[in-house]
Amino acid sequence: MSQVRTRFAPSPTGYLHLGGLRTALYTYLLARKNNGVFILRIEDTDQEREVPGAIQLIYDSLRAAGLTYDEGPDVGGDYGPYIQTQRKHLYLPHAMQLVESGHAYPCFCTKEELEQRRQAAVARGETFKYDKHCLGIPKDEAKQRMASGEPYVIRQNVPLEGHAGFDDLLYGRIEVECATLDDNVLIKADGLPTYNFANVIDDHLMGITHVTRGTEYLSSAPKYNLLYEAFGWTPPTYVHLPVVMKDATRKLSKRYGDPSFEDLLAMGFLKDAIINFIALLGWSPGTDREFFTLDELVEAFDTKGLNKSPAIFNMEKLVWFNTEYIRKLEPERYLELVRPWFDQALSGTQMDYERLAQLMQGRTEVFNRVPDMVRFLKDMPEYELDLYVNKKQKSSIESSLDALRFMLPVLEGIEPWQESVIHESIMEAIAAAERKNGPVLWPLRIAISGQLSTPGGAIEIAYLLGKQETLRRVRAAIERLANAAQ
Ligand code: GLU
Repeated sequence: MSQVRTRFAPSPTGYLHLGGLRTALYTYLLARKNNGVFILRIEDTDQEREVPGAIQLIYDSLRAAGLTYDEGPDVGGDYGPYIQTQRKHLYLPHAMQLVESGHAYPCFCTKEELEQRRQAAVARGETFKYDKHCLGIPKDEAKQRMASGEPYVIRQNVPLEGHAGFDDLLYGRIEVECATLDDNVLIKADGLPTYNFANVIDDHLMGITHVTRGTEYLSSAPKYNLLYEAFGWTPPTYVHLPVVMKDATRKLSKRYGDPSFEDLLAMGFLKDAIINFIALLGWSPGTDREFFTLDELVEAFDTKGLNKSPAIFNMEKLVWFNTEYIRKLEPERYLELVRPWFDQALSGTQMDYERLAQLMQGRTEVFNRVPDMVRFLKDMPEYELDLYVNKKQKSSIESSLDALRFMLPVLEGIEPWQESVIHESIMEAIAAAERKNGPVLWPLRIAISGQLSTPGGAIEIAYLLGKQETLRRVRAAIERLANAAQ
């Protein structure tokens, strides 16, 4: 059997959306699983849709995802160039070969003429299909007109009768009546190929064995297969992948603000969590197993596990994966990753990041939620006095005032301000006064954090704040509570 060669063939139209990332991932896995070759090809023949910088973004995103390609524009390879506009010279000769064999023909119809005929068809209640008008031009005359510089396109000559079809690994045999197919443009007036032509030529010339792409190409693939037949080439194995949906009614789309891969990274999702999650959007290992590294995915991947029905992107599930991946990070790695997010909220403080990181790691779902969770350590938030009232902790406004008045001198006397010393001093004082922990520690934590839920308890927070700031906050709380209790 020949070596498996797969390709990811994005058009440089912007960010890598999650459906694209998933196609890239499956394409990569298919190659790696079979010790094959994974190729990146840039499909930029639709220059109007090209977004500046998008090609570089594709390189960066694939690298960030860990999907290293063996051949591609920026890594080279024996089948280059890997950018379609740089392959321009390859397409026209192939199209002319089809013109010679009668499988294609030049078309000189102008936009206006086509539009007129389209409108006439609509008026008759028909959908417009190119009417093969220029197929009737004698070959010599057509050649002359082409040579004279008259603008033309080259169209595929789809048979009027019979069937066109292909076998899809996932969807089985797909067949359509040729009569329903249009004579697609293969070469545009600017000399560049359309996707419809370029994909076939390039997949063949690059020795692609498996074509993986979205189901939006399912209906055009019979026409592509006709081109393979016209050239006498063996078609590749086709694997069309179902779309990724936002919900039951609509596709995941950047237009509606759904995040791209780059967005997710910027939000603080871990690449490994994204990949793991994406892999399971439309593929199942056939077991309950949920966690896979990229290498483990290579090991487990099998096209038999691909699902035909559209996959639904579930943000909560992704957040869950991310939380689990963050939990499993080495503490040093977590600290490294969380540092810029701490900085966002805490720059200018002397905060013990290492200790804060220990308290935060198990509570971090997505990194961009971190600044809001730790900001109280720099700026005391405004808060409602209701926070002091907690039945379970036997805490009320009055008891809180009493507890904080009791705590203040204890805190003032703590030296050095180390967590273990703070812990011991507070616990000893509570025990000596025969008080209970809850009614003391609850109001203390509220007084110095101003929020119900915090990373760590009163002691950890007091330590992180430092002595001065802790005392300042406790004194301010006493004053507020005293005013309220009057
Ligand atoms: N350039 C196409 C796209 O970005 C890819 C189709 C294919 O993989 O053949 O949708």
